[in-house]
Amino acid sequence: MLTKVIEQSKIDHFAKWMERADKIVIVAHVGPDGDAIGSSLGLWHFLNTQDKDVNIIVPNAFPDFLRWMPGSKDILLYDRYKEFADKLIAEADVICCLDFNAISRIDAMAEAVLASPARKILIDHHLNPEDFCRIIISHPEISSTSELVFRLICRMGYFDDITKSGAECIYTGMMTDTGGFTYNSNNREIYFIISELLSKGIDKDDIYRKVYNTYSESRLRLMGHVLSQMKVYPDHRAALITLTKKEQSHFNYIRGDSEGFVNIPLSIKNVVFSCFLREDTEKPMIKVSLRSVGSFPCNRLAAEFFNGGGHLNASGGEFYGTLEEAKKVLELALEKFKPLLNAKG
Ligand code: 5GP
Ligand code: MN
Repeated sequence: MLTKVIEQSKIDHFAKWMERADKIVIVAHVGPDGDAIGSSLGLWHFLNTQDKDVNIIVPNAFPDFLRWMPGSKDILLYDRYKEFADKLIAEADVICCLDFNAISRIDAMAEAVLASPARKILIDHHLNPEDFCRIIISHPEISSTSELVFRLICRMGYFDDITKSGAECIYTGMMTDTGGFTYNSNNREIYFIISELLSKGIDKDDIYRKVYNTYSESRLRLMGHVLSQMKVYPDHRAALITLTKKEQSHFNYIRGDSEGFVNIPLSIKNVVFSCFLREDTEKPMIKVSLRSVGSFPCNRLAAEFFNGGGHLNASGGEFYGTLEEAKKVLELALEKFKPLLNAKG
């Protein structure tokens, strides 16, 4: 049995909205990841079984390694179909905001979502949710939004309506937000949920291969190149990897190719903090990805130095300037956080 994580009043409230709603829109954060797409599709498959008119809208494209997911072809990209998406958002009865805590995380869609008269619900696991939804289901102690979607559906009494496709999507989000169950994954109920998803006929080993082992040759060569340039800061127990636009074009970079790179330096003994700086191809900025093991708070460093945030062990931000400047800022941050980086635990 699962613990009742989500408050009963919120389950009842959403169930009531759902019964009355015809048109439901699901939105997730910019640069959608496995959990953003997994939780959205997990909810989408379920709402389809309830004969709702459901649409998923995300601000921009998601990585190729998520395209196998059932239903992914129906996801609407706001940067390509703005007009149609605006109409759906404006006419929705209910909008479900998944896997983000701040309205700015849906980028250009924010205005339309805020302006819509739809009832809004937030389902998320990031710290400090902003107050833009009537129902706020926010559980930072839960490792993925996909797990929350599973819990919500079950608590409303609809476990039987979770299809194999829906289960595959929920599993994918749970898997990607825990690095294949290698971090944030000590809650035993995760494995109870996986067992329930397996009962729907999912092939978890196949899902792992589809997500993690379907890259191009050039992506693997890019990884080799990036790692050969890695800088380690032994006194700070930290490491930095970088990727310029020039290197991206040399290795035929496509969106998602550098997914997971930031975790690799953490496999070095005594490295507890890893930073990945990537020159963005769309905006004039450096995308910052941070990861840690143990108690080092990447989200604090992200907030103080890179205008970002996120989780304790996985966070990110944006830096408007050159790669060299971003590197200098990181080195300043490492100095400031040196005591914490060297703290035990
Ligand atoms: P990633 O490194 O995979 O891009 O992001 C890891 C986590 O950091 C995300 O799940 C999100 O919580 C957070 N994050 C990434 N980029 C940003 C950003 O620009 N702003 C904020 N506030 N959080 C971010
Ligand atoms: Mn997530």
